[in-house]
Amino acid sequence: MKSVGSDPLGYLADEIEELKRQNLYRPLRVMTGPQASQTRMDGMPVISLSSNNYLGLATHPRLVQAALTAVRDLGVGSGAVRTIAGTMELHEELEQRLAAFKHTEAVLTFQSGFTANSGVIPTITTEHDLIVSDALNHASIIDGVRLSKASRTVYPHTDVGGLAEVLREARDKGGPKGPYRSILVITDGVFSMDGDVAPLPGICEVAERFEAAVMVDDAHASGVLGRNGRGTIDHFNVHGRVHIQVGTLSKAIGVLGGYVAGSQHLRDFLIQRARPFLFSTSQPPAVAAACLAAIDVLEHEPERIERLWTNTHFFKRGLAELGFDTGISTTPITPVMTGESAVAARMSERLFELGVFAQAVIYPTVALDKARIRTIVSSEHSREELQACLDAFDTAGRELRLI
Ligand code: PMP
Repeated sequence: MKSVGSDPLGYLADEIEELKRQNLYRPLRVMTGPQASQTRMDGMPVISLSSNNYLGLATHPRLVQAALTAVRDLGVGSGAVRTIAGTMELHEELEQRLAAFKHTEAVLTFQSGFTANSGVIPTITTEHDLIVSDALNHASIIDGVRLSKASRTVYPHTDVGGLAEVLREARDKGGPKGPYRSILVITDGVFSMDGDVAPLPGICEVAERFEAAVMVDDAHASGVLGRNGRGTIDHFNVHGRVHIQVGTLSKAIGVLGGYVAGSQHLRDFLIQRARPFLFSTSQPPAVAAACLAAIDVLEHEPERIERLWTNTHFFKRGLAELGFDTGISTTPITPVMTGESAVAARMSERLFELGVFAQAVIYPTVALDKARIRTIVSSEHSREELQACLDAFDTAGRELRLI
């Protein structure tokens, strides 16, 4: 091949070297087994503590059968965006089931939780609006805010008083909502890296005082909190006080996709204007069919959620008794704080050698000095598996002088 001078993307190699130098480069591990409590990673048998498959639905026979039937009857692809030829009966059925499950008027599905967040926020806000966002909200919320023309401000993490302060400052600019047409307060329901829960009753109360709308991203609460896994809105019984709920179908639901739950007007407007909805192909029929089967399972097998919480309490207690700093989590997500990225990477590597797959989470996913091993237990872990994980944490933690 003829050389055409220096590589115009040559700087990427330098960037990668720099990331490696700072211990911020993450290699991908490759799974060869199913997404289950025990699987194979890079050829090694491991107990997995890094999956969002909270309830084991990714391999549930009922979901697998629903997907197989849909593939057989309808094929593998949906062929178009929803607004052209890509709206199948299964999509509409899934949206109606989700709306009934979440007790909202309507639901619109997206290809992922990421596109649900990054789609809805810039679609419903303009330069006349204000967005007020929790400091630790998920990247897809941050990107949605970046895509919006609205004014934006961040309030300290889960700080209801801090939120009130921000809203008061806005009001001081004149009128109950200040100079803004509307104010949108956005929070994760469960925070994905710390596992803490947003104080929704306080947030709703403050938002109501300042006539602001509330949006909650329940990606890590769907299937985990609330009756049958209905999420944080149900957990706190703030139905009707949260105007937009975003959910994912990719974690506890076990499949792939996202959705926005709220009013019929919200759904109708998103169909007209939300760019990921308008310009990206809809879910394949097998995905929608498996998600429908997942809602059946949530409604009929509540014991999975009970097992998830029993395992959560056992594992959290075990880590705390070993002396680890596990942060502020009250959910199945339990971080084991290491501080430096290099320590998190070494800890994860050592755990892997000991047969436990628990990924390090480092910058930019969390702050530079807040690196951690992030663990998530599922309903499907046996007591023996969890004890084996605790033993591995004990060994690795002592070696690295974390405990
Ligand atoms: N919101 C939160 C809080 C998340 O943790 C995630 C997944 N990392 C998403 C949204 C995106 O969901 P999905 O994986 O379905 O795109």
